[in-house]
Amino acid sequence: MTGRPAVFVDRDGVLVADEGVRPADAELVPLPGVVEALATLYRAGFAVVVVTNQSVVARGLATELEVDAAHARLDAVLRSRGAFIDRWETCPHHPDATLPAYRVACACRKPRPGMLLRAAEALGLDVDASWMVGDRPSDVAAGARAGCRTVLVTTGRHDDAPIVSADAPFVVAPTHICAGLAEAVAVIVGAAP
Ligand SMILES: [Mg+2]
Ligand SMILES: [Zn+2]
Repeated sequence: MTGRPAVFVDRDGVLVADEGVRPADAELVPLPGVVEALATLYRAGFAVVVVTNQSVVARGLATELEVDAAHARLDAVLRSRGAFIDRWETCPHHPDATLPAYRVACACRKPRPGMLLRAAEALGLDVDASWMVGDRPSDVAAGARAGCRTVLVTTGRHDDAPIVSADAPFVVAPTHICAGLAEAVAVIVGAAP
């Protein structure tokens, strides 16, 4: 397969602190080292795609517009500091959603790989040369199912999600375990293609 390599990045617990449900208009503040890590990926020629499950939408705690607006504000802050996000992918669904419109077993909610595959199609990415960085087993599973190498980072609440669920019946070991996005990016940039 040809195309640009990408790094798919989870949002909560990787780019910003995982604070659970926050007010819909809360600002998203990058974790220490995140801006520099994203800038390094840009200079190394990787596309960067954020892939985030936001079941707050399905639960009626924030609207898609509010989530998109928060992403646009964070994107502007990052961009002003040399850290470029090529695409934001959000899954607003949940199989047990409060709002019927979002109550669906979708293809995009991680551990399913739909958001990664959609971005790969849209941007012409080479998933086999790409990586997924996340703080939960569902991130690792989504990345592995898309065909990527994976990094589990320990900056999130990675221990509160079941490793085995009906949707992710297999334990998928990450390619690497790192202390945060900065360390993950050092591994990725240093790895053989
Ligand atoms: Mg996370
Ligand atoms: Zn979805």
